[in-house]
Amino acid sequence: MQALSNRKKVLEQKKMTLVERLYLPAIFQGMGITLRHFFRRKATVHYPEQKRSVPAVFRGLHVLRKDENGAERCTACGLCAVACPAEAITMEGGERKAGEEHLYREEKYAVKYEINMLRCIFCGFCEDACPKEAIFLETTFAPASYDRNDFIYGKDRLVEGFKRHELVSPITTLKEAQEANK
Ligand code: SF4
Ligand code: SF4
Repeated sequence: MQALSNRKKVLEQKKMTLVERLYLPAIFQGMGITLRHFFRRKATVHYPEQKRSVPAVFRGLHVLRKDENGAERCTACGLCAVACPAEAITMEGGERKAGEEHLYREEKYAVKYEINMLRCIFCGFCEDACPKEAIFLETTFAPASYDRNDFIYGKDRLVEGFKRHELVSPITTLKEAQEANK
């Protein structure tokens, strides 16, 4: 078939020289390249023990913010869930009872609020859609885990003030994970 560019290159199979047939120069050349990279700064990090620093505009894990009096801002309006292209957010609304004013800012609040971090694409649309300035994406990201359930973040891990890494099983070794799943 004729190429669109109409360019062509005739390849001829040249006979190998004695040096080429020895393969040693090619081996040393390859080892030289390996050695050069050995002393260079590594591009990889040992995640999860080491974490790469991220810019301030990085969109990571979500947080449900409280107001200046410590009451939850979220009113379970559902706009974030509607805006979410990955359908990662689910919630259930409830009525605030008398005496709960210090817990929930408005009369309606989220009894249940969950984000599936395996579905989330960290686009930030939920943050943009929220009229109450309740949900924000921070610069941390979901810790690794062998258990899929660890990636369903409920209010216990989303509401401001929670030490989010406490409930997530730390990734250990593959052998330990396999034993735990037996
Ligand atoms: S960041 Fe995007 S994908 Fe993730 S929950 Fe928010 S809207 Fe959905
Ligand atoms: S986080 Fe914001 S947009 Fe989502 S339900 Fe709560 S108040 Fe509504």
